[in-house]
This record gives sequence, structure tokens and C-alpha cells, in this order.
Amino acid sequence: MDGSAATLKPGDTLVVASHNSGKVREIYELVAPFGLKVISAAELDLPEPEETATTFEGNAAIKALAAAKASGHLALADDSGLVVDALGGDPGVQSARWAGPGKDFGHAMSLVEDKLRARGATAAQRTARFVAVLCLASPGGATESWRGEVEGTIVWPPRGTQGFGYDPFFQPLGHTRTFGEMSAEEKHGWKIGEGAPFSHRARAFAAFAAAKLGAR
Ligand code: IMP
Repeated sequence: MDGSAATLKPGDTLVVASHNSGKVREIYELVAPFGLKVISAAELDLPEPEETATTFEGNAAIKALAAAKASGHLALADDSGLVVDALGGDPGVQSARWAGPGKDFGHAMSLVEDKLRARGATAAQRTARFVAVLCLASPGGATESWRGEVEGTIVWPPRGTQGFGYDPFFQPLGHTRTFGEMSAEEKHGWKIGEGAPFSHRARAFAAFAAAKLGAR
């Protein structure tokens, strides 16, 4: 069911519906200034639902609803991934799966690079974007979601050891360093210009915060 999933205020409990430590860390960093009691699905030992939807919105809702219903608290899920134009949008919602059971993102980045080469992609055809959809669900089944995107280019070889997942081979538009070469502050945009949200997750989070946390 869609509908308004209540507003959050300082002291409220929010379950972060993820078992991905990289994402949980980033969401904790983003939520930190708002005074919520944040706990992850992994810390609560909640089962990980199967992500059977074909859209980021659909998978975010599956995860948020499962955590909200199992915990009895509002739950925030992030479904995200890398969309490569020359690969018809792949790996997209399959981004985590391309890393295999060992979560080997060196392998996943090599797969993307091999496919780009096999298709003869030129430098101009290496465009991609990170997409993040945040979904807030209530135990009663209401959901609301917010999408953020950041445009960039796939570079090879990967560079940098910061961040997680596909960060080392993603160079955001207008920059000479990859997300793997940026601190969390830079990646999210807290040090760029006037602190406008920059990463896909920070942009989705800013929209969520404006709607639900009273942030301006
Ligand atoms: P899911 O949302 O749990 O299905 O997984 C999304 C996957 O997309 C992650 O495991 C990462 O591989 C990738 N991804 C999402 N956001 C980022 C990011 O900010 N940096 C690097 N990789 C990301």
C-alpha cells in the first residue's frame, strides 16, 4: 500500500533496512544530525527479504516494508546501483549480484569493463549514473520514496580505496577523481560549494529529510 509513512522527530527509532555495511555506514552518517535512534536490520537480526522487483523503487519498498513489519518501527531502505548507458542500464538493480556471493567488486567492475570493451564503447559512450531510492515504510504498510542520481563516467583502471562497491571506477561529471578517491564528506557533497548534496544517496536523503525530518 502507498501512503504517507508518518513524520520523524528527534528521539524516534528508525530501522535502517540493510545488511550492507557500506550503505548502513553512509545512512548513519546522513541521519546523525537529526537525533534519531538508528538501528540496522543486521543488528536486529532481521531476515533479508529477496529483492524480486525490477525497479529500484520496488526493491526499496520490499526491504523497507519487511523491516518495518518485523521490527514494529519505521524503517528506511535504500535500493541503489550503477546504471551504465552502453550496457542498456546494467548492472542496475543487479549491481550487488554482479559481485557474486563473495561480494567481490573488483570482479564486478571488471565485468562492466569487459562488456564495455566487447561493445566497442568509445570514451564518450562510457557514461553512467549511480541511482539511489530511499523508501520509508511504517509497520502498518504505508510507504513513501525519494530518488537521487549522480552522473559520471566509468574509468579504467579503478582508482582509490575509499567508499565501497563500484566507487573506484566511477568519476562524477566535472571531477577528475573517482568516488573511491574522495572522502565521505566530498562524496556526499558536504565540502563542495555550499554543501549541496552531491552523491545519489545524499540527494535522495536530502529529499527524504526535507519531507520527513523538517530539514531545509
Ligand atoms: P542493493 O541496493 O543492496 O541491491 O545494492 C546496491 C549495490 O549497488 C551495492 O552493493 C553497490 O555495489 C552498488 N552501489 C550502490 N551505491 C553505491 C555507492 O555509493 N558506491 C558504490 N557502489 C554503490
